Amino acid sequence: MILVTSWDDGHPHDERIADMLARYGFSGTFFVPVRNSEGRPVLSGSALRRLSHSFEIGGHTLDHVYLTGLDKKEVHHQIRCGKEGVEQYLGREIKGFCYPGGRVNASIRDAVLESGFCYGRTIENLRIDCNGSPYSLPTTLQYFPHTKDILVKNFLRYGSWSRRAATLKLAIQAENWWDRLPVIAESMAHTNGVLHIWGHSWEVEKYGLWNKLEQMLKRMSSLRPASMTVLEVSSEGCRLGR
Ligand SMILES: [Zn+2]
Repeated sequence: MILVTSWDDGHPHDERIADMLARYGFSGTFFVPVRNSEGRPVLSGSALRRLSHSFEIGGHTLDHVYLTGLDKKEVHHQIRCGKEGVEQYLGREIKGFCYPGGRVNASIRDAVLESGFCYGRTIENLRIDCNGSPYSLPTTLQYFPHTKDILVKNFLRYGSWSRRAATLKLAIQAENWWDRLPVIAESMAHTNGVLHIWGHSWEVEKYGLWNKLEQMLKRMSSLRPASMTVLEVSSEGCRLGR
């Protein structure tokens, strides 16, 4: 099994996530906007540089805005300036992008490619494989106490049902929401499948989930997964998972 974790929005609590991942020897990817128009704070340049020593940093637009509501020029501006802003902090290129709110269409995918990103991560869930397009990278589950109804709603929304049905079944059968990821992981422990957990550190804080997150990572580490960043899995993992 390949374990991937990615964390959106660049909230300062990302540093606590990074410490936790490092304790279990896991890598990870942090998608960071330059500013957050929703009002939440974003990591400082020095904190971002610290994080980048051990983890992948990716783009998440300039202002953390949903791109589907913008005209073409503004879409390009948000993607490109978000990339340049983070690169200025880091002093090097970033290659990964994550669509805010998972909002994406064909012209947004093109803009991400034209801006020099190698992949785009979506919020499609319940996938343990990589599909063919690096600009539509799916995930397995958001680290969030979703109800079963929400899982089913997301399942119906994103299609690829035959690839996702078995994972939905496992997630729904798990006794508690925090057992879902370990149950899915145990089912794929000896495979080349990709378990991609994504989340927001500000939600882990808001809902008091730090202890549960640590316990989940501990259970994952007992399965001895290979740990990859999203960039690594977007090339290598896709090849293995097919
Ligand atoms: Zn976001």
